[in-house]
Amino acid sequence: MAKLTLGVDIGGTNLRVGVVQDKKVIHEQRFPADFSSICKQHAPAIALQEILRISLSALQQAMKQYPDVNGIGMGFPGFIDPVAGHVVQSPNLPGLRHVDIAGELSRLIGLPVAMENDALVAAFGEFLLLPQAPRSMVYIGLGTGVGGGFIHAAKPYPGDHGIAMEVGHLITEPKGRLCGCGNHGCLEQYAAAPGVSQSYHQATGESLSAQDIAERAAQGGSAALDAYALAGRHLGLAIAHLAKILDPEVVLIGGGMSQAWSYFSPALFRQLHEDSIPVLRDKIDVRVSNSSDQAGIIGAAHLVNH
Ligand SMILES: [Zn+2]
Repeated sequence: MAKLTLGVDIGGTNLRVGVVQDKKVIHEQRFPADFSSICKQHAPAIALQEILRISLSALQQAMKQYPDVNGIGMGFPGFIDPVAGHVVQSPNLPGLRHVDIAGELSRLIGLPVAMENDALVAAFGEFLLLPQAPRSMVYIGLGTGVGGGFIHAAKPYPGDHGIAMEVGHLITEPKGRLCGCGNHGCLEQYAAAPGVSQSYHQATGESLSAQDIAERAAQGGSAALDAYALAGRHLGLAIAHLAKILDPEVVLIGGGMSQAWSYFSPALFRQLHEDSIPVLRDKIDVRVSNSSDQAGIIGAAHLVNH
C-alpha cells in the first residue's frame, strides 16, 4: 500500500486535515480554527500556544484513525523561511514572528512536519493534479486576495526569503487604489473578489459580492461585465510581466473567483496579447483550473517528500 501523509490547509476560520495517498484525499476533516482572531486577541506567545494546541489536537484526531501516517505537510498563511522552515511573518496573523510551528509540532508528534506558504502549497497541489505535468507553471489564485506560486522542475519555488510570487502586490495601476500592503494600485485591488465589488460599486453605487456580480454578468448586466473586464485587464497585464521574467509553460488561474472565468478571460487574453513581448506572444498556455478545493491539502501532503 502506498504511504499515507497528512496534508493541512489553514483557511480563514477553519483548518482542514486530509489523509493523502498518492494524489488522492482518502479522508478529510474540518476543525474550527480562527487563527486571525486568536492573534488579534492574545499576546504573541499565548496566540502561538493556542495555534499549536488547536493544530496538535486536529492532527492527533486524524492520526487516531490513520496511525500509519508517516509525515505531515502544512500550508500556512505567512512567509516561511525557506531554509529554517520558520514562519517569518504573517500579514493576517499579527504578532507571529520567527516562530517554528512546524518544528514544535514535529517534536510533539514525533513525525517530520514540513511547512510552506499556503498559496505556494495550493500552486503545488494544482500542479500535481494536472493530467500532464508542465515543465514550469505559474499559479494565480483569485479569492479574497490574490496569491500565487511558481513551480519549476516539479518543485515549489519559495524564493530566497519565502516571498517569491507575491503576485497580488504587483502594481498594475500606478497611483491606483490603496492596498492593505501600504502601496497603491496592486493587482489584488482589482482582480480579487473585493476589488470586483469595489469596481462595481464605483460604477453603480451598489454593494454586491463578486458572486452576485457574476450572476448579473450572466444576465448581460453591463456594469457587472465591466467590473470583471477590469479584473481581466489587470490580470493580463500582470501575467505579461510575469511571463517576461519566468517564461512559464503554463499559467493556471484558480481560487474561488475563477468560476467567473468566462467573464474576465476575454479581457485577460486581449491585454496579455497586447503587453506580451513579441517572441512570447500567444505562446503561453493560460488556462483555468478545474480541480476541486483539495489542491491545498494534496500540495501540503506532498511537501513531505520534497
Ligand atoms: Zn498591495
